[in-house]
Amino acid sequence: MRGKKIIITIDGWSSCGKSTLAKQLAKELGYVYVDSGAMYRAITLYFIRNNVGLDSHREIREALKSINLEFVFNPVSQRSEMFLNGENVEYVIRDLLIAEKVSDVAAIKEVRAFAVAQQQKMGVKKGIVMDGRDIGTVVFPKAELKIFMTADNAVRVERRFKELFAKNPNVTIEEVKNNLEMRDYIDSHREVSPLRKAEDALELDNTQLTEEQQFKKALDWALARKAVKKPE
Ligand code: C5P
Repeated sequence: MRGKKIIITIDGWSSCGKSTLAKQLAKELGYVYVDSGAMYRAITLYFIRNNVGLDSHREIREALKSINLEFVFNPVSQRSEMFLNGENVEYVIRDLLIAEKVSDVAAIKEVRAFAVAQQQKMGVKKGIVMDGRDIGTVVFPKAELKIFMTADNAVRVERRFKELFAKNPNVTIEEVKNNLEMRDYIDSHREVSPLRKAEDALELDNTQLTEEQQFKKALDWALARKAVKKPE
């Protein structure tokens, strides 16, 4: 794909379809896709397994020293999967148990500093699409294209419910709805890097859009930002 390499950030509420769009864009442009939420989920898994007290800054700092996060490409699934200290945790971290704790963990200052430093390193060479909550505001404030995604609550709950139900038929729509509302609230009200739309972000409300329509719109934006400027 011609044109300059850029950084594309996709932020927004939980279950808006950020990762679907990010993956499609990355594939089309030959860019790296980074799911920043997976990092917070993996840290949460480590904290749960090791009974790290969320009120103890000392315990948190010690725990972070023992955490190694890596995205490893899996040729079978054709995607990068999250590894925590050498273990593939891509599937466990999608569990509702993790979703129930992740926003509290992600609100901790030390945890954010730890994750953001690694995310910024991944973007040094550009050619990257990263989705999350603070990517356009904090991680890459100078990104060439920032997208902020929204969708009606009911639509988001329905989408996430279908996804989780396919893996675990015991899950109820109320649990999913409560979890989304709780995460959105904590994510947008926390002190450090709350979820908000960057001033220069383009808003994409996909309530009424098909995946294809949404992709086309975002790709047009990306191609326009990638276009090499003609010499004056
Ligand atoms: O994107 P995903 O839903 O997997 O993210 C899980 C959680 O991780 C979010 O609800 C949020 O609390 C946290 N997160 C964050 N900042 C990011 C990405 C995710 O705080 N950049």
